[in-house]
Amino acid sequence: MIIFNQGNEVPGDDRFGVLFGTLGELGVGIPVVGTSFEIGEGFALAEEPTARLVLETSQVTVDTFNLLATSRKGDPTKQVVVGAHLDSVSEGPGINDNGSGSATTLEVALKLAVTKSKPANQLVFAWWSGEEDGLQGSNYYVSQLSEEQVANTALNLNFDMVGSPNPVRFVYDGDGDAFGEAGPEGSAAIEQTFLDYFAAQGLATAPTAFDGRSDYFAFIDAGIPAGGLFTGAEGIKTDEEAATFGGTAGEPYDPCYHQACDTTDNIDATVLEEMADAVAHSVYTFGAVKTPGRGHHDHGAWRSWHKNHAWDGRGFHGSHGDRHGRG
Ligand SMILES: [Zn+2]
Repeated sequence: MIIFNQGNEVPGDDRFGVLFGTLGELGVGIPVVGTSFEIGEGFALAEEPTARLVLETSQVTVDTFNLLATSRKGDPTKQVVVGAHLDSVSEGPGINDNGSGSATTLEVALKLAVTKSKPANQLVFAWWSGEEDGLQGSNYYVSQLSEEQVANTALNLNFDMVGSPNPVRFVYDGDGDAFGEAGPEGSAAIEQTFLDYFAAQGLATAPTAFDGRSDYFAFIDAGIPAGGLFTGAEGIKTDEEAATFGGTAGEPYDPCYHQACDTTDNIDATVLEEMADAVAHSVYTFGAVKTPGRGHHDHGAWRSWHKNHAWDGRGFHGSHGDRHGRG
């Protein structure tokens, strides 16, 4: 099989060069190659296409790892998994995607430590591996959870790209009102917590779809509520978005997405700081974190959400699994 690039003009995204795809899983029984649009078009238009391929291939197994840091304090039956992927694509250093998210969650974890803050719910900071190769790290993590551990995972927060240079403050559409694809029950409350936070800061937000493009996917697939933030990738900023959020309409949110130029120059420090504060707020809220001398963090929407929903002391039993038929 020859898969060729699609050959349409998309700023910030090379759709003419050689296609480097992923097959998703091992064990595909036919040879598959990727090629450029030009070569592929040549085959497609030829009367009697004949290809002579010389392939030098190797199949290697690469060891990699997730980095997990679990708080000593906090109820282990109400775990809050705070995730960001630590890998990048091979084309570039991946500073916005996803040095921005993984550095932000690291900073929040370090602040919890130096302030001797105590979460009432156990916090699991996860730096996922292999996201760019098909969500490998987070899929593996969730696949290894027992049914009880799934039930003890209260929610997943995901931060994948939070410093885009032409940014929009996107919040995952947990309630599905914008894109019709709601997350498991509880996801709406997570979205609302972010919306309330940004509203209190006087900062506009926009919804982004739960389209399965990042590490929350395995969690929502297992019926675990999820939410998070995103400042945009190869998508193009609209006129309306530019009016609301500033920046340049008609340009990608991140013109260096998955490219060699995704360096420290590819970060908008202002939006990174705004997002980092929101990340911290969400971790403190869902972890019900108490900081010495400062008391409890305000639970906001989260408190009202689980006042109205059955919280049986062991996680979100009533809410897990409905979406995919699990009890
Ligand atoms: Zn990413």
